[in-house]
Amino acid sequence: MKSKFGEFLNKCLNLMFPPDIKCIFCGRDVKDFYSRPFCDSCAKDLPFNTGNRCLVCDEPILNEAIVCDNCQKTKHHFKHAFCPFVYDRAVRDAILSYKKNNRRYLALGFAVLIAKYIGENIKNFDLITFVPMTPKKERERSFNQSKLLAEELGKLTNVEVVEVLRKNFDTKAQKELGYVDRMKNLKNTFSVIDKKAIKNKNVLLVDDIITTCSTVDACSAELAKYASSVSVCAVARNKRKTLPVQK
Ligand SMILES: [Zn+2]
Ligand SMILES: [Zn+2]
Repeated sequence: MKSKFGEFLNKCLNLMFPPDIKCIFCGRDVKDFYSRPFCDSCAKDLPFNTGNRCLVCDEPILNEAIVCDNCQKTKHHFKHAFCPFVYDRAVRDAILSYKKNNRRYLALGFAVLIAKYIGENIKNFDLITFVPMTPKKERERSFNQSKLLAEELGKLTNVEVVEVLRKNFDTKAQKELGYVDRMKNLKNTFSVIDKKAIKNKNVLLVDDIITTCSTVDACSAELAKYASSVSVCAVARNKRKTLPVQK
């Protein structure tokens, strides 16, 4: 828990040294970073996840269905997913650059967008946690991108961030696998290290991208053993290969 003085000091420091207030996609100046961290020029071509989408997993769907085919067939361990963008174009480039080129400052802009997308629903959550990395992987990358996103989201929304999960080992690359094989691949990968923190709580789990839902599902399955409910959020939701590129 942060002290009142700590919060006050943080606000003063932010006033004296404002955080990066440039467009998170192209670096141009923006007027109001905390409500719109991108410029007008980028806005025209950003893949916002605002079309028809699955009520459960937030995946874009082409027809008028309320729940996607996958969610009709598979019962997820999370209640709902919140992803402000489709994983495409400038958003894909920015996320890759955030992770691979160590552009940590993008986390704040991403978190602003996630917080806006979640909106009033944030009141439904008691705490925020994140998809963990193995210590080895975290050392290699030098940071955990989901943890940093969670920390920025926690600061913006005043919801406590707690490290609850551990990743026990690194899994094989999942790219070529479908949902069922991915879930098999992830068996016993994650464990809860702080059961008390989530007991009977409504938990929001943060990841950077949601692709097939297998990673967030494997984490949610562990969290849901103790928590009242689990929902998930990420910067972007992958669209299935069968969907045409959204313009
Ligand atoms: Zn821009
Ligand atoms: Zn779905």
